Amino acid sequence: MAKEDYYKLLGVDRNASDAEIKKSYRRMAMKFHPDRNKDNPDEAEAKFKQIKEAYEVLSDPKKRSAYDQFGHAGVDASMGGGPGGFGGFGGGFSGESFSDVFGDVFGDIFGGGGRARGGVQRGADLRYNLELTLEEAVGGTEAKIRVPVMVVCDECHGSGAKKGSSPVTCSTCHGHGQVRMQQGFFSVQQTCPTCGGTGKQIKDPCRKCHGQGRVQDTKTLSVKVPPGVDTGDRIRLSGEGEAGKGGGPAGDLYVQVHVKDHPIFTRDGANLYCEVPISFPTACLGGELEVPTLNGRVKLKIPAETQTGKLFRLRGKGVKPVRGGAVGDLLCRVQIETPVHLTKEQKEMVEKLGESLTGGGKQHSPQEHSWMDGVKSFFDKLTG
Ligand SMILES: [Zn+2]
Ligand SMILES: [Zn+2]
Repeated sequence: MAKEDYYKLLGVDRNASDAEIKKSYRRMAMKFHPDRNKDNPDEAEAKFKQIKEAYEVLSDPKKRSAYDQFGHAGVDASMGGGPGGFGGFGGGFSGESFSDVFGDVFGDIFGGGGRARGGVQRGADLRYNLELTLEEAVGGTEAKIRVPVMVVCDECHGSGAKKGSSPVTCSTCHGHGQVRMQQGFFSVQQTCPTCGGTGKQIKDPCRKCHGQGRVQDTKTLSVKVPPGVDTGDRIRLSGEGEAGKGGGPAGDLYVQVHVKDHPIFTRDGANLYCEVPISFPTACLGGELEVPTLNGRVKLKIPAETQTGKLFRLRGKGVKPVRGGAVGDLLCRVQIETPVHLTKEQKEMVEKLGESLTGGGKQHSPQEHSWMDGVKSFFDKLTG
């Protein structure tokens, strides 16, 4: 169930002043205070909580502007952790399987869903899974999608009645949609069995939609994907879901973002990670190498005596998060490549090096840090 719009909850419009919001909040809080609603305390309490939450956001200029920009996702996100630091896993979205990115850009044209009186029904919300490459997700893109939807029948314009005719008032309920049934002493109100609550009867159904007022169709939509989206984000296109019934408003279309695996980079929030192979001599003596980023190659200095697995941070070469915040970093993890297919001569050189490193050489003093110390301490850790 989607959260209700905060402005709507407080009964104010989007450019209401702080004073107006406060005044309206007091009035609404009074109205729905559980103490004053002894008849249905649970419902009143739920409403009271929603109003309180709405006021907490709209009375705070910072939260209000985040909410204006991004809808509920904006405030939910800002309540979470700060900019994802090292290893910080995109704070703020836990508990929600996805969050609106574009919530209010298209606006709540039709507002809340559900069934209204007289058989008018809002169309169903639809979900579309959109696969993006990492480059598209980070840089933003415009995607064309084809969505199967129920649309208003163009033959009868949704009435369900044959062209030239129109639905007539239901003879059972006389247009009320409800009928009273006598059951013993009680009079019970029920949905009219003849018209199903619409209050209207179709004598001559439309041939195209067989009286449904809606037909199956496919529509092509263009979706603007803002830069920085990630798997789990969704973009709402208001009114692009299924057509409503009985002239009801259309549902929304939720475009669910899924970012495909990248051959080089993995993403964690605003940061990108990649593995960079370096040669054994470079690891020992240091050097400079070129590493890939999402926009071209950059130089990375490798200091002498670099161990395998070491992370090098390239500031600002990560992702700019869609909800704002600092641009992330690119973290390169170096992997020292063991030379293969050595010639006899090379093998002898490695052997000599090995002997020299393990202390065979006279010039090596035991206090000096050697390559083998690292290996030994690693095994010490393993055995406890
Ligand atoms: Zn029709
Ligand atoms: Zn009826």
